[in-house]
Amino acid sequence: MNVAKELVFDPQLMRRFDVQGPRYTSYPTADRFNFSHDARAHAARLDARTAGAGPLSIYVHIPFCDTICYYCACNKVITKDHSRADSYLDTLLREMAMKAALVKGSRDVTQIHLGGGTPTFLDDAQMTRLMDGLRTHFRVTEGAQCSIELDPRGVSGARVAHLGALGFNRISVGVQDFDPIVQRAVNRVQSVEETEIVLRAARENGFVSTGVDLIYGLPGQSLESFDATLATLLRLAPDRVAIYHYAHLPSQFKPQRRIDEAMLPGPEVRPLLLKLAIDRLHDAGYVHVGMDHFARPDDELAQAQRHGRLQRNFQGYSTHAGCDLIGLGVSAISRVGASFAQNHRTIESWSSAINDGELPVMRGLDMTADDSVRSAVIGALMCHFELSVEAIESTYAIHFADYFAPELEELRELEAAGLLTIEPEWIGITPRGRLLVRAVCMVFDRYLRLDTETVRYSKVM
Ligand code: SF4
Repeated sequence: MNVAKELVFDPQLMRRFDVQGPRYTSYPTADRFNFSHDARAHAARLDARTAGAGPLSIYVHIPFCDTICYYCACNKVITKDHSRADSYLDTLLREMAMKAALVKGSRDVTQIHLGGGTPTFLDDAQMTRLMDGLRTHFRVTEGAQCSIELDPRGVSGARVAHLGALGFNRISVGVQDFDPIVQRAVNRVQSVEETEIVLRAARENGFVSTGVDLIYGLPGQSLESFDATLATLLRLAPDRVAIYHYAHLPSQFKPQRRIDEAMLPGPEVRPLLLKLAIDRLHDAGYVHVGMDHFARPDDELAQAQRHGRLQRNFQGYSTHAGCDLIGLGVSAISRVGASFAQNHRTIESWSSAINDGELPVMRGLDMTADDSVRSAVIGALMCHFELSVEAIESTYAIHFADYFAPELEELRELEAAGLLTIEPEWIGITPRGRLLVRAVCMVFDRYLRLDTETVRYSKVM
């Protein structure tokens, strides 16, 4: 089945359900974590996991970037001083040792992801030190999925080869837009050649998946310029493409104040930019994996989606989201069983906790039984665009129609609008509803239902 054919862009629906909402990389979302879930609570959850709790996934956050991109809403530190990475690594290795000591038995690590910030802020020696540290403290399996977010500016083919030698086998490359006017307007100037070099080097060095991230809605973008960007993208033929929406929220994200608002594409152009991207990707044979993600049909994410194995975690769509996740570094989130813990968000508080011999936990959460049911419902909708009522009833011992009576009533309005279909045994997102799946998930979000203040979230599109 070509899933992309089932994605229909409906501008009217998009406008009508242009609500603000979370991206559901977890449920409950991180902003619901509480500060009473501290280092001691997280240590207890780690300690309580038995040796047979299955494989582990590790996320490492590298917060440094050389320069600021004006659209950025990430937690990062802008610096030209690359020696700062050395002391960061010293602390990171201590955090690895502390967490590895709490992990019982010899649990395999089958997935590692480096995100940021800019992970390639680390030079070859620093990257080697990081990966050696992970292998010293954890049992990383031979064929582990090792992925890295890569900023191609200044990254040579030899550096990519070195990453491959360290075990990396998947990259996602930040591009956003190839147009020089757009690049200048967001202070991220990178040539097509730089992107081409890293993608080619990744393929030559046996990386099994390459991805490129674009953003629509950036200053200076027009339909013509974005079409040219898409043509370049398709020539480079990455395995995966993510098309994110730029949410202009300068009151929340300071760097965005440097964006010239007069250059932003208007509300009538933004949906057309997205439609253009969908059409071009569809014509080139990419399938819609979920939300803003597309992939070649033979990519592992597209295959996982086809076979109902796709999952979602803090890095987006994944084939390994069921593993316990150990987060390392500033602001990183861990998930252990039915609990979450997020590290401190500044280098100072994160490193001072570790230097005091404490896990650097800022906040976290133990999922309730209700959280677990809703997490399963939202996960199924986000990843598979359909939900088996019977599967939820038998797994969680609830009567779906009673348990979710108010939600089902609310969903009737979305059904009437054409976003989904509700049957006694199934809830299915329609082709028109696929891009608005978040709006459906939000109906099942108990915290959001209790919370009238939703302005902090970025818009669906
Ligand atoms: S977008 Fe990426 S590279 Fe740019 S400032 Fe933000 S984290 Fe750094």
